[in-house]
Amino acid sequence: MSKTYAIGIDMGNTTTSIGIVDTQGNVINKSSISSDYQNITEYIDAIYDHLSALIAQQGEVKNIKGIGLASSESNYFTGCVEFAPDHKWNGNTPITQILTKKLHLPITLTNNANAAAMGEMEYGIAQGMKDFILLSLDNEVSRGTVANGEIVYGHKIFTGKSGHINVHNDRGRACKCGKKDCLEAYCSTDGIVATTLELLASSKEDSILRNIPQNELAFENVYEALLKEDKLAKEVYHFTADLLGQLLSDLVAYSSPRAFILSGKVAKSNEFFRQAINESFEANVLKIYSGKTKILTSNIEDSDAVILGASLLAWNPKLIDA
Ligand SMILES: [Zn+2]
Repeated sequence: MSKTYAIGIDMGNTTTSIGIVDTQGNVINKSSISSDYQNITEYIDAIYDHLSALIAQQGEVKNIKGIGLASSESNYFTGCVEFAPDHKWNGNTPITQILTKKLHLPITLTNNANAAAMGEMEYGIAQGMKDFILLSLDNEVSRGTVANGEIVYGHKIFTGKSGHINVHNDRGRACKCGKKDCLEAYCSTDGIVATTLELLASSKEDSILRNIPQNELAFENVYEALLKEDKLAKEVYHFTADLLGQLLSDLVAYSSPRAFILSGKVAKSNEFFRQAINESFEANVLKIYSGKTKILTSNIEDSDAVILGASLLAWNPKLIDA
């Protein structure tokens, strides 16, 4: 009897990761392409070509149950990607409809933070949890909320756009959405770089980051400097952790989660950062919540959490129509 597989696709802002997943939740083959295409047709063609090659490479894969697609600006209920400011094809796009015609497979779309939350609940650090909030801190910031064991989708619209809520800060830093002082402007990879540049300009602190031309400074440089105990890099992470701790101290009152799970490049393997967020959280949270909510870091490889969570939608396709 031939095995059945699901496809999980993580449509990130810069990279699209595609994985073939078996019934046990093993990503048996995966690969990625750029997300940078001039129009949606070119992008879909690229996904199709890449997926076909991936399936052909994995010769035994014949039975594909379906595809779960995750994108930050997606509407689970309509199957459309809406308001995608990072993509050149920004605009309301019926991506499941277009892909279904091309691939002839059932396709379900969700927010990528919701997909990551599903992946964590089924295969990762949130196994056994029924109430938690996942915060994805990458080149964008988004949130997946699980309450009573179910993803919170809200009323036919996005619940995960936490990257664009205001933080406790009034620096007036511009966000790519057009607002100012959004969480994403501070706690994404670009936000970390922006804070670093501000600190390099405003302080005289010696730092290995001063050896890098400012227009070439990347998130990875700041992270590597942090691992080398660079004082200025630590200050950047401390500032970011303070903002996040304050945010989580507000969020905890909405759904009283058992844990916050941090994922994405900014959170990855960074115990110093996690502890600093916890300190800020405990300093700001209402006392009835103090000590009752854990702040954890994802233990699934970053892109795999989204791929795995998206693949769960392929096993259990959307039942709610718009
Ligand atoms: Zn914003």
